[in-house]
Amino acid sequence: MLRLNDILDTVTAYNPGADLDIVKKAYVFAAKVHQGQTRRSGEPYLIHPLETAGILAEMRLDVPSIATALLHDTVEDTVTTLEEIEQLFGEEVRNLVDGVTKLSKIKFTTSEEKQAENFRKMIMAMAKDIRVILIKLADRTHNMRTLEYLPEPKRIEIARETMDIYAPIANRLGIQKIKTELEDLSFKYLNPEIYKTIDEKVTARQSKRDKYIEDVREIVANEMKAHNIPCDISGRIKHFYSIHRKMEAQNIPFDEVYDLIAFRIIVDNLAQCYEALGALHGLWRPVPGRFKDYIAMPKANNYQSLHTTVIGPHGERVEFQIRTHEMHDVADRGIAAHWKYKEGKIFDEKEEMKFKWIRRLLEWQKELSDPAEFLDTVKLDLFADDVYVFTPKGSLMELPRGSTPIDFAYSIHSDIGDQCIGAKVSGKIVPLKYMLRSGDTVEIITQKGRTPNKDWLQFVRTSKAKAKIRQFMREEEHEHGLEIGREMFDKECAKYNLNSNKLLKSDEFEKYMHELRFKEANSMLVSVGYGKLSPHQILTHIVPKEQLVIEGQAPKETIWEKVVSKLSKRQGGLVKVSGLSDVLVSFGKCCNPVPGDSIIGYVTHGKGVSVHIRDCQKILAADSDRLVAVDWDMSSGVGRTAKIKVICADRQGLLAKMTEAITEIGVNITEAEIKTMDDRKAVNIFDIEIKDIEELRKVMQSLEKLKGVISVERVRT
Ligand code: MN
Repeated sequence: MLRLNDILDTVTAYNPGADLDIVKKAYVFAAKVHQGQTRRSGEPYLIHPLETAGILAEMRLDVPSIATALLHDTVEDTVTTLEEIEQLFGEEVRNLVDGVTKLSKIKFTTSEEKQAENFRKMIMAMAKDIRVILIKLADRTHNMRTLEYLPEPKRIEIARETMDIYAPIANRLGIQKIKTELEDLSFKYLNPEIYKTIDEKVTARQSKRDKYIEDVREIVANEMKAHNIPCDISGRIKHFYSIHRKMEAQNIPFDEVYDLIAFRIIVDNLAQCYEALGALHGLWRPVPGRFKDYIAMPKANNYQSLHTTVIGPHGERVEFQIRTHEMHDVADRGIAAHWKYKEGKIFDEKEEMKFKWIRRLLEWQKELSDPAEFLDTVKLDLFADDVYVFTPKGSLMELPRGSTPIDFAYSIHSDIGDQCIGAKVSGKIVPLKYMLRSGDTVEIITQKGRTPNKDWLQFVRTSKAKAKIRQFMREEEHEHGLEIGREMFDKECAKYNLNSNKLLKSDEFEKYMHELRFKEANSMLVSVGYGKLSPHQILTHIVPKEQLVIEGQAPKETIWEKVVSKLSKRQGGLVKVSGLSDVLVSFGKCCNPVPGDSIIGYVTHGKGVSVHIRDCQKILAADSDRLVAVDWDMSSGVGRTAKIKVICADRQGLLAKMTEAITEIGVNITEAEIKTMDDRKAVNIFDIEIKDIEELRKVMQSLEKLKGVISVERVRT
């Protein structure tokens, strides 16, 4: 039996300055008021508060929590009043006892509506003082340990409630030790047959398993020693409930559950975690896909560890968890591991941030009036890895963790997603990349006529948002192409005085369309817009040759034909137009961009996209609706012709030196124009073929270095 002194020793060990008088006083008081009461087991009632206090001491909670544990049933089960508690133990303990008493009255086995209300109360109690729920968890743990003494219906009821409510809460608070114990005890009463089978099989192999654990431990210990990694290694059988879940999930009998044992390597610091992992993987081959780095990416309850499964000494799968002592402590004690005693406060600010969801839960309960909805959301947030956010009108939206305002917008309506230009969270503008958190109220700012941005695809999380953005991109590409294609086709027809509308509906057109395997006229025109198909090519197939004659010109080649073939050959692939492939591209003669220039595209009437330097006068004056984003495709290997103007002294041999300087870089001169001025100066205009702006700079620099050269500049027209 646990004695008060054991608890006092434990507390002193982790909190040497603790004022133990209040604990002793609480013990004496509880002993007095519970006197004569017994538990179902026949033992004195006092054992229960004492054990509860003992569990909390193991979790290393503060003195008021331990005192409260000793007093937690006094108001409920004896004549003691809260006033008395306050007089004797102060306000803090009074509030804690009050909280635990209220929580104890909450039953989660009632109708849904009642349950929701109860959940609300519990969340409020948690948010007010998290210690209340920790004391309740300890209370429930001891009750579960002694559940066998209760009549069966009561047993099942409590076990069900523990499995459904308290074990998940312990998990959410990161208290693995309590969580696994509550799960196993509940499992024992909820599925006694299966529990018994697992228990028997585990027991039957005990000695064999112990030997195996010792063997593995020794091999790993030697390996770690060889790598100079000081560590503690332990191996243990997994808890029964998780074995059961494994059997169920994989639909296999006990004997086929291979990884029954989990090994733990505990090291001194973070670097050693990865060193140990490396050493382990060097020793035994890792099973692909089983490595998880919860150190870099901690679980929602702050759990940190490296997990890996390797092929062990007998070809079997063995699971390892690697972590530091500190991480291990957090895994065991969860939220309680963040206690700060010295400062006399529960958490420091940073730690409190990690458990902010508790506060958010409290905020929700104010906003959600429908108890069933509240229950759903609270349960889900406690138990799942999703976020729950609100619309400005208070409707609740459930989204996967990592979702952004864009995901939220699309989950409301695709139009809202498409026209989204900004977002506010709780009244403040946030970036569209912002990761939503449970409890956020999200307002989407839209603007009519705005369209989705391709870049959104890089951060949206939901499949709906992704699908909608992609769909829009495809449609836009199609529309662009169609617009251009139709204009090109119309122009070509106009040249021969043909009616394009009529032609598009003609049998001949339809026949050629099928020949080229297009399903509809529009897709064929899109192809024209992209420069894959020339309008003239279509005409030659659907119109008799004699009709394709322009007065005074040979029928076979049109100017368009020349332009299209020339452009698609020469510039093909040099520029990518925002997501479009194979679009017909030309370069503005007004600014003559070269690869590396900051550029923008202008959708012309009938000539595809013309590419300009961003600050080109023509672009600044252009209709902004027709502007599209374009990028250089530096991998295309296609160059451009640039013009440079060199002013130099009119000196013999200088021209030769200049051409030599240019060609030395490996650049071709396609044209040169030289004019002599009156003041003994010469102006030279060179057309040079360059890869990109870098090469142009090189040429200009080497010209500037020549003796006699006065100025070198790039000519954009
Ligand atoms: Mn109790």
